[in-house]
Amino acid sequence: MSAPGSTGSILITGIGSLVTNEPALGTGPLGILHDAAVVVADGRIAWVGPADTAPDADTRHDAQGRVVIPGFVDSHAHLVFAGDRTAEFAARMAGQAYAAGGIRTTVAATRAASDAELAANLDRLVDEAARQGTTVLECKSGYGLTVDDEARALRLASAVTDEVTYLGAHVVAPEYADDPAGYVDLVTGPMLDACAPHARWVDVFCERGAFDGDQARAILTAGKKRGLVPRVHANQLRHGPGVQLAVELGAASADHCTHLDAADVAALASSDTVATLLPGAEFSTRAAYPDARRLIDAGATVALSTDCNPGSSFTTSMPFCIAIAVREMGMTPDEAVWSATAGGAAALRRTDVGRIVPGVRADLVELDAPSHVHLAYRPGVPLVRTVWRGGAAVA
Ligand SMILES: [Zn+2]
Repeated sequence: MSAPGSTGSILITGIGSLVTNEPALGTGPLGILHDAAVVVADGRIAWVGPADTAPDADTRHDAQGRVVIPGFVDSHAHLVFAGDRTAEFAARMAGQAYAAGGIRTTVAATRAASDAELAANLDRLVDEAARQGTTVLECKSGYGLTVDDEARALRLASAVTDEVTYLGAHVVAPEYADDPAGYVDLVTGPMLDACAPHARWVDVFCERGAFDGDQARAILTAGKKRGLVPRVHANQLRHGPGVQLAVELGAASADHCTHLDAADVAALASSDTVATLLPGAEFSTRAAYPDARRLIDAGATVALSTDCNPGSSFTTSMPFCIAIAVREMGMTPDEAVWSATAGGAAALRRTDVGRIVPGVRADLVELDAPSHVHLAYRPGVPLVRTVWRGGAAVA
């Protein structure tokens, strides 16, 4: 019997294929075990091994031959906002080009929204992601662009995740359109003072129309001095200095990486900076996809993430991103599943998620499929059947 208030231990057995992401536990880079079982206790993985030698537990879940994978780690999302940009998407699909300035539309709606409205939208999106297998989400600010609105976004994000990112430097706030240097002073000064206590990470949209390399360096360096670790929106719409800056400053991740030259690829491959690819953005802006194959072959660590935001990638679906990565970006199904789980964990510098090994957080996803390959082989099909986060069934 388990103590009142505890979920007790769970034996998940009958697992036809278990993706552990630990090569020492099974075959191949995904460490796959067949006919496996997992025991969860106190929110952690307590045991992993062959089903016929599994210890007993308080309750039992029979996967009936299905595949179980680690929960998805979505390391790049913008979920604190109001309104949507349906009309902009439709116009783009009718031929208009995407530009960074569309962010200001969401800024106006977000500033006008109440805390309750923003929290409700955030909760809805977190639930939507969970139902699709996401158990860790990063969440950025960046639609407030005033001291109070950015701090509010980070407070709200903190209620749903530990992975909170200060993105005051998403675009220059409209009030500073004629004084971008003044806005950088705000972002590195009073806004940083208000936001640093609520965040783990600092991010910059380093792009023409947003912030150039010098501005991005100033913002990320100021964040580092306050104990925040950099991550960078880099090289999304054209080639730029973002990737080199991310590597130079020891960023956890350079995100987008769509337009890279040979030096960028080499820099990522020889650093701890993860290349986070966000194919939902290229899908939703009808742009060329990043070349994951080139990065992997060079030795870079690659993560996949949704970039969920109302303008350029309004999806919370990691399976959708996996399917695109396999079809369009040169990734094998194994690589794409690794990048959406262990890769995302690496991009957040987490070792307690992204794998199914004893001791880590019990974040698991049971798919209504015999193999993880089905995530790409059966695109658009809702395969996620059960999701455990910290040992508790959340979907
Ligand atoms: Zn983004």
